[in-house]
Amino acid sequence: MVGDLGGALRAVRRRGYTAPMLREVPHGELVRRGRRWYVARGGELLGPGWSTRRVRVLRRAQLIEPVAVIGDGRRRIWLFEDRFYAEGDALEPGDVLALIRERERRARRRLDGARAALAGERTAAGAPRRERISADVRRAVFERDSGRCVACGSDFDIQYDHVIPFSLGGASSAENLQVLCATCNRRKGATP
Ligand SMILES: [Zn+2]
Repeated sequence: MVGDLGGALRAVRRRGYTAPMLREVPHGELVRRGRRWYVARGGELLGPGWSTRRVRVLRRAQLIEPVAVIGDGRRRIWLFEDRFYAEGDALEPGDVLALIRERERRARRRLDGARAALAGERTAAGAPRRERISADVRRAVFERDSGRCVACGSDFDIQYDHVIPFSLGGASSAENLQVLCATCNRRKGATP
């Protein structure tokens, strides 16, 4: 019930309860020790010791929707779009996604505000929202990703997706571009 979350949170806050909180795990990463993979926070291993095969599946799945990677009662650590998040409210993936998108919208609004202030009246004239991706970069990304969606492996209706959105300052470089199919791209960009 993604659409209802905002209203539900406000209602909870009015009653004085603690609203579900999601915070990013600082310096969260996947690290390999021997043949196993662990979630680590600033070098400290948190678990759980997956095989490389399992991690490969996880890396794809977390581009589509948040995946709970470590659970400890109600407290969970989630992975989504290569970032780790912690919460303690036994949330569903849809709720975690809604909270992540809310954080991103807040960050985008702050950034847009700062940029508008910096650009002053030039912003009113309208800056291009999309940068053209050069043919060389397209070719490099296509070859690197084997012409297939990095999330689901489909080669149907593929698009070039900015990992860090162009609107957030992400470059149109091969490092910041990936192949996604139209379906996965829509899902990634979907905001509640
Ligand atoms: Zn796909």
